Amino acid sequence: MRMTRQIKIGGVKIGGGAPISIQSMAKTDTRDVSGTARQIKELAKAGCEIIRVAVKDFEAAEAIRAIKRRINLPLVADIHFDYRLALRAIENGADKIRLNPGNIYKEDEIREVIKLAKKRKIPIRVGANSGSIRDRVKSKWQRANGKEQRAKDLVESVLGYIKVLERMDFYDIIVSLKASDVISTVEAYKLFSKKSRYPLHLGVTAAGAVSTGVVKSSIGIGALLLDGIGDTIRVSLTGDPIEEVIAAKNILQALGLRNFGPEVISCPTCGRCQVDLQDIVEKIESGVKSQVAGCMTRVTSCKIAIMGCEVNGPGEAKEADIGIACGKGSGVIFKKGKIIKRVKEKDIVKELLKNI
Ligand code: SF4
Repeated sequence: MRMTRQIKIGGVKIGGGAPISIQSMAKTDTRDVSGTARQIKELAKAGCEIIRVAVKDFEAAEAIRAIKRRINLPLVADIHFDYRLALRAIENGADKIRLNPGNIYKEDEIREVIKLAKKRKIPIRVGANSGSIRDRVKSKWQRANGKEQRAKDLVESVLGYIKVLERMDFYDIIVSLKASDVISTVEAYKLFSKKSRYPLHLGVTAAGAVSTGVVKSSIGIGALLLDGIGDTIRVSLTGDPIEEVIAAKNILQALGLRNFGPEVISCPTCGRCQVDLQDIVEKIESGVKSQVAGCMTRVTSCKIAIMGCEVNGPGEAKEADIGIACGKGSGVIFKKGKIIKRVKEKDIVKELLKNI
């Protein structure tokens, strides 16, 4: 893992070996305090650890104070175009500010924000997006017309911005370099990580609807995490933000970086399968979720294998902590590699859940 400088957002540590944290963004109008707080609480319950809200006007910046009273997550204010919104958000208790180098770039304005962030001891994310990269850089990008140049331009835009912050002795910085295509995003983060030790917020921006967005994000974020790059992640989806959190948890768990409860593996089924495996898997997954909600510590670090027949079934079931290899209307349950029981199809879910 790439060792980065550690910063803190509220009580959550980012970088420097801290667990990779999960972020999401509220999709409500921030001025709607109750609606926004309600959505943040739902996201927290799903596993979100840092929440960002859009601050599009002064009313939204003021709402941060009331929202913070109702939630327990560190809150990040997302600022574009007007640096005074950042000032107002910080005054109202934001735990971090996200500034976009593409639309807040005047040095005297940045200085004002840094002065207050230093006083309140909060970090700033320099969040560059390919969609709002500055014209000066963009013209070069358009000439170059290549993904490699797009990544370089994102990195250049962020490094230039960081210099301004460092000139003011401000180092509580976190960085994101998001493009809407996976390759430019991965290239930009890789390039940046060779040049700087600031912690990285990973994401593929404007990734699309849930089905395509999860794939793009998993590839982009996953490729970087596999290389040891990344300190916090946000999966961006056009859809329910809970899906963003679920996808982020699945990415981290699939890579063995975090553990959010038992891992269920199951075969895709084929003509050999003689039970309703889809129904069994769905019931086990929802049963496991309620067990995790009830008693997290007892059920973590557990692999459950649910296999449709004797081809790969016994092998996978033996390797898992608990597994089943199904046959015709029945199944054999394995626990820690040993057969413990043969059960009828109707009892599979109950028996598996009992043994987790
Ligand atoms: Fe088919 Fe059996 Fe493989 Fe499942 S384990 S996909 S049922 S061969």
